[in-house]
Amino acid sequence: MIIKGGSRIVTCRCCKTYLTNRSELISHRFQGATGRAYLFDRAWNLDYSDAQHRDMMTGKHIVRDVTCKVCHKKLGWMYEFAMEESQRYKEARVILEKALIDEEDGFTDPVGALETHEQPPRFSSTFYS
Ligand SMILES: [Zn+2]
Repeated sequence: MIIKGGSRIVTCRCCKTYLTNRSELISHRFQGATGRAYLFDRAWNLDYSDAQHRDMMTGKHIVRDVTCKVCHKKLGWMYEFAMEESQRYKEARVILEKALIDEEDGFTDPVGALETHEQPPRFSSTFYS
């Protein structure tokens, strides 16, 4: 398991697997199935379901459900494609539901592990356009 630097790390509430950290947080004003949800730029140790169409308050999206790689609990979803131009900032970003994750104190990153960290998978949305 790789712990990335940052002041606060975010883990799976069920099995404590590292998922992301606070510096990847873009917005906390999202609504998930269980209540409040957070939008993160990147997250790790997730599995992605097949892409599916979903109608949301903010328009039509193509999303993938995300589950914890270790305990397979559903944690949220990622946006693969947003039909509305104003919503496209969410593409390739991940929603994690607050009730399903924990935040813990992390540590700083003196050796610059942040720069060399393996990137999470990105899904191309080009075939929809
Ligand atoms: Zn887990």
